Amino acid sequence: MRSDIDTLRQRVTDPLETAVAELLDTPLTGLTDDDLIHAMQKIEQVTRTLAAVGHRFIVEASDRSLPSHTGTGTIKKFLTQTLRLSNADAGARVAAATSLGVWHDMCGEPVEPRLPATAAAQADGAISADHARAIAAVMKRTPGSTRDADFQAAEHILATLARNSTPDDIPEIGENILARLDPDGHLTDDLDRQRMRGITIGRQRADGMSPIRGEITPTLRALLDPVVAKLGRPGMNNPEDPDSPCGDYESVDRDVLAAAARRDNRSAAHRTHDAVLALLQPGVSPNRLGSHRGLPVSTILTMSVADVEKAAGVATTATGGTVPLPEALRLAEQSQPFLMVFNHDGVPLHLGKTKRLASAEQRMALIAAVRGCSRPGCNAPASLCAIHHVTEWGKGGATDIGNETLACDRCHAMIHDGPGGWKTVVLGPESKYPGRTGWIAPPHIDPSQTPAVNHRHHPGELLAEALARVHARRELDRQHHREWLQRLQQPSGDAA
Ligand SMILES: [Zn+2]
Repeated sequence: MRSDIDTLRQRVTDPLETAVAELLDTPLTGLTDDDLIHAMQKIEQVTRTLAAVGHRFIVEASDRSLPSHTGTGTIKKFLTQTLRLSNADAGARVAAATSLGVWHDMCGEPVEPRLPATAAAQADGAISADHARAIAAVMKRTPGSTRDADFQAAEHILATLARNSTPDDIPEIGENILARLDPDGHLTDDLDRQRMRGITIGRQRADGMSPIRGEITPTLRALLDPVVAKLGRPGMNNPEDPDSPCGDYESVDRDVLAAAARRDNRSAAHRTHDAVLALLQPGVSPNRLGSHRGLPVSTILTMSVADVEKAAGVATTATGGTVPLPEALRLAEQSQPFLMVFNHDGVPLHLGKTKRLASAEQRMALIAAVRGCSRPGCNAPASLCAIHHVTEWGKGGATDIGNETLACDRCHAMIHDGPGGWKTVVLGPESKYPGRTGWIAPPHIDPSQTPAVNHRHHPGELLAEALARVHARRELDRQHHREWLQRLQQPSGDAA
């Protein structure tokens, strides 16, 4: 026992302490910018891994019943007192260790963490405690009826996406995954949604203003979003700016709009209000709004044939929303939306539209296939994106869809040849995602210069991969259980 603690000291804690002390004293001024960034990333990675080490110690302290031996009673109080933690910090660490730590069953056998992929990502130093907390918060909201395999797949997807996202991105990714976990409406069904729908415009106050509140259905949202995106675009319909373009939407001059957008200081709430006001002006009809960033200002719904066959799942809109499939099909029966149906390999089967628009088909296919900004981690929906021509290696840049992708304005501006610029490539047949746009981060972010694709708009494509892993692991578990049972059934010779 004595030698164990000596080993731990000699090999681990003493060198760790020395190394950290050295980090406090080493002058940083001699480092190049790249070295500094690399060191910061490395230290962050190690700090994250140390959080995973913390789970091991909490599990061990709990296995030894230290809370009762020390008279503190609970593991949280034990941490508060022995490490002088705040109540909130101790609570967060216990919660994290509970879902990410390797605990033991009655026989002392290790049990896989409740969130295994998240635990692995944290142990790799790829995600922080904040990431893990955000993932746990999403997983807590999965419906009770979720099948185990789906639960595990969802967690795997969240952990995979978290490796390239900030903790602030997780809730939105989670909403998207929850919508897919609950396509048939275990959380809420159509009836629930219809019951909840409503817009209340309150009594007009003395100052002339009226409060408004309510909840709108996915269908109303799908129809409203593209209108607000077009009429409420910065620079458009700004009552504070007499030169702001309004009225004839098709013939707005690009430069006039860009100049108006620079003068536009309205908040998103202001712009939504002004967009609805503009929509209700005499002579304006959502059917005549034409295009916005080259896309028709009507709802674009994309759905997979697998979902259509089982009449479950969700359709995706160009504005990044989801509409439950039955509602999407009802919407598609009417003339307004553009409908794209994809086969099992993601190839468009059906392109329905009710209105002609120049070169729209190519763009529609692009929106339906790419769905949003293609830069890894970016969540901008297709309605906020421009068409980007990807750099083609070797070939003359054809203007076919294979050479085009979507990028939001912010990400588009990141692609340049200067320092800190990003590059884009079309991924070849040898890639796991052939034909997709690979983004190469500048060397200070990714020294290996590996092209990466954006999974944010395609949670489904990770699903199959995750499910396959889950099934493989379950087969191993079954094998393990069989062996365990066999061992139990063998007569125990030693006991006699
Ligand atoms: Zn983007």
